[in-house]
Amino acid sequence: MGQKILVVEDNELNLRLFCDLLRAHGYAAEPVRDGREAVARARAFAPDLVVMDIQMPHVTGLELIEQMKADPELMATPIMAVTAYAAKGDEERIRDAGAEGYVSKPISVVKFVEAVGTLLKIAAARQAEAAAPVPTEAEEVAESEGPETREAAEPEGQAAPEEPQTGTPDEAPGGAPI
Ligand code: MN
Repeated sequence: MGQKILVVEDNELNLRLFCDLLRAHGYAAEPVRDGREAVARARAFAPDLVVMDIQMPHVTGLELIEQMKADPELMATPIMAVTAYAAKGDEERIRDAGAEGYVSKPISVVKFVEAVGTLLKIAAARQAEAAAPVPTEAEEVAESEGPETREAAEPEGQAAPEEPQTGTPDEAPGGAPI
């Protein structure tokens, strides 16, 4: 079986796209649609890599990255953030939270798959390091990717207005179920 990749993404089209893409490249992709399940599912699935959407209802990818990086079971698992936000500082914020990789939406299929491969190499290097501490250059490989063009015309445009702000719009005033 291929390496295991947990895909956390609230948008159905993107979730299917990412999982199909990963499976087409021989990976075992496990979809998670609700970010609130992500940490438990990650513990159960023990992925080699987590692909993490950032804009999600209920819990943001940033929060999930912080939770996973604070979890002894999950902290060594590389996380590749995927986000539609392109504003200055976002990538830095995501990396500060602990994500090892960052891909912006709409994704380039080539770049997405390349980034997955790079992060899996980091994962393998970490495992090797844990087994027998030797220096590795995988981290340098991760940094060597320069800016590249976005080329894919994936249907991410449909996902743009998906995010409610914080808050709980589903609750009736007074808490009475309706
Ligand atoms: Mn989203």
